[in-house]
Amino acid sequence: MSDFKHFEYMAKHRYEQVVYFYDKTTGLKGITCIHNTTLGPALGGTRLWNYASEEDAVIDALRLARGMTYKAAAAGLNLGGGKTVLIGDPETVKSEGYFRALGRYVQSLNGRYITAEDVNTSTKDMDFVAMETDYVVGLEGKSGNPSPMTALGAFHGIRAALQYKFGNEEFSKYTFAVQGAGQTGYYLIKKLVEAKAKKIYFSEINPKHIERMKREHPDVEFVEPKNYFGLNVDVIVPCALGGVLNDESIPQIKAKVIAGTANNVLLDEDIHGTMIKEKGILYAPDFVINAGGLINVYHELKEYNVGRATRDIEKIYDRLLEIFKIADTENIHTQQAAKVFAKKRIETINNVQDNYIKR
Ligand code: NAD
Repeated sequence: MSDFKHFEYMAKHRYEQVVYFYDKTTGLKGITCIHNTTLGPALGGTRLWNYASEEDAVIDALRLARGMTYKAAAAGLNLGGGKTVLIGDPETVKSEGYFRALGRYVQSLNGRYITAEDVNTSTKDMDFVAMETDYVVGLEGKSGNPSPMTALGAFHGIRAALQYKFGNEEFSKYTFAVQGAGQTGYYLIKKLVEAKAKKIYFSEINPKHIERMKREHPDVEFVEPKNYFGLNVDVIVPCALGGVLNDESIPQIKAKVIAGTANNVLLDEDIHGTMIKEKGILYAPDFVINAGGLINVYHELKEYNVGRATRDIEKIYDRLLEIFKIADTENIHTQQAAKVFAKKRIETINNVQDNYIKR
């Protein structure tokens, strides 16, 4: 028997709702978790994973939903945080019926939760979900691939970090090292090239992505992954995996700024957030700097307009400057400051809405 105390955990982190569902025809087994809907409907993708245990799945759903609350709040969106996890083998469970069954469970929440694709679910799968519910975003032919927009947001975030750290955001003065030239890394490197960065290095493990970079940007220099963190550059740009800022990598870092698209880059938020702060490195909190894709998809809920979405993504610049200031004023690390910033917005809007106004 597991000793995970569901309600104690929900009370501690102020969750609203956890829904379990099982479809007898397709074997769909999942959990939707809604963390907080103060700002609006909870939005978060559907992750399909072969979890080792049901408890692992619940904990993942809870953790990811809470992360979405902070991400949406810090991005200035009128969205709450939620997530769905499906328990199953991505190689075998998928079918039209499976995702239409999911769509019906999403619809049963009547707009309190909006889903999208995530790890092991695709826009094609979401097309089936959309046959049963309107509460799904990130569909083909609407806001499209989020990666260029995530990269665009990170580019504005890097500008903000340069401005705050060095008082100048002239890219030609700085050197950059990008980890991962996959979806977001590829588009971000393009932006850095266009901005005439002084020097760009990239590190990759996928030969196809290395080849593409060498072909399209011969001046962007490849560096072996083992030498990545020790590079003598101004900015480290993580665009690959989570957990890469840890006891081993941080002591090697010579850069003064860390800002990229990757999620959960701090292996331990507090320990490694503090280590980075103590080294005098400015770290742009992941869930703030990589919100471009989420902001873009949010615009799909209204009538999608690329100009409006792009302008909204640009605001990551001001938001990060505000967060860096909070960190300095309160003498806390920037990841913590980002949470202070997000919680403050939720609290403010909660209070603003406490009087009844007929619309
Ligand atoms: P991706 O899989 O397209 O790219 C990641 C790249 O990193 C791959 O090319 C991979 O080969 C490379 N890589 C893996 N391990 C590496 C290593 N040790 N050293 C160097 N390169 C390595 O993924 P993506 O969509 O670009 O996402 C990258 C990160 O950004 C992830 O953490 C993701 O969660 C986050 N993110 C992405 C989006 C988005 O819109 N795609 C939005 C928000 C956050």
